[in-house]
Amino acid sequence: MAGKVWFVGAGPGDPDLVTVKGRDLVARAGAILYAGSLVAEAALRWAPEGCVKRDSKDMALEEIVAWLIEQARQHETVVRLQTGDPSLYGALVEMARPLDTAAIPWGVVPGVSSAMASAAAAGESLTLPEVTQTVILTRVAGRTPMPSGEELEALAAHHATLCLFLSITLLPEVQRALKAAGWADDAPILVVQKATWPEEEKIIRGTLADIRDRCRAEKIGSQAMIIASPALGARYWPDISRSKLYDPAFGHRFRRASTSEEKTA
Ligand code: SAH
Repeated sequence: MAGKVWFVGAGPGDPDLVTVKGRDLVARAGAILYAGSLVAEAALRWAPEGCVKRDSKDMALEEIVAWLIEQARQHETVVRLQTGDPSLYGALVEMARPLDTAAIPWGVVPGVSSAMASAAAAGESLTLPEVTQTVILTRVAGRTPMPSGEELEALAAHHATLCLFLSITLLPEVQRALKAAGWADDAPILVVQKATWPEEEKIIRGTLADIRDRCRAEKIGSQAMIIASPALGARYWPDISRSKLYDPAFGHRFRRASTSEEKTA
């Protein structure tokens, strides 16, 4: 009888941001494979005594899969801890398919993605009524090419919020693409490095024109999220359009509207 492999989202770094379900699985795991220093603490904090722990940072995908299968044959619960949420840039399918082939059951526990953690760290809303109601989670092409139609320039043409993973070393390309898509030189750009990491989190605010220099000055070269959004900095704007959800004139399931408009409707 094989055990079950759980792909658990460990969140962006702060161990308190692991879900309760994720923590409970770690606490009863027979074996844990964790992805480098980013989630090491979460693994070590709640892992039971005698649990097999392994850092995957020097393992190829085939080795990871082989390790998970081997451990699942010995333990009831095996946890693969991943940064942020496992469904984003986490090779989930590549790991899960061989488990299917080996008839090993698996499940996923979602995690707090670094995109959400970065917005939270900076106190920003990624959506704002009448400004943008769409968030695009993407990256620029590195060694992984972008599928046709998903070039940053094409996505940026929507002028919606962009959360860019895995792209901090490619800031010149980000600048080029946004400019080509019509974003102004003074469009606000946010970069958050190591969001939620105690003592290490850095929040850099700049514009499309100067964000690269600001990041260079702060030596930001890895583990950073880039957020470009027309909603950034809205808390300092003199006026914002009110969110309909809290507008007294807008009734919804839990509250009746209070205007004459609805009474006559
Ligand atoms: N599954 C992860 C993303 C893995 S890809 C998630 O949902 O967050 C790795 C990229 O995520 C990094 O290049 C960086 O862009 C981003 N990232 C991961 N942790 C981060 C953190 N604590 N702060 C800022 N960006 C982070």
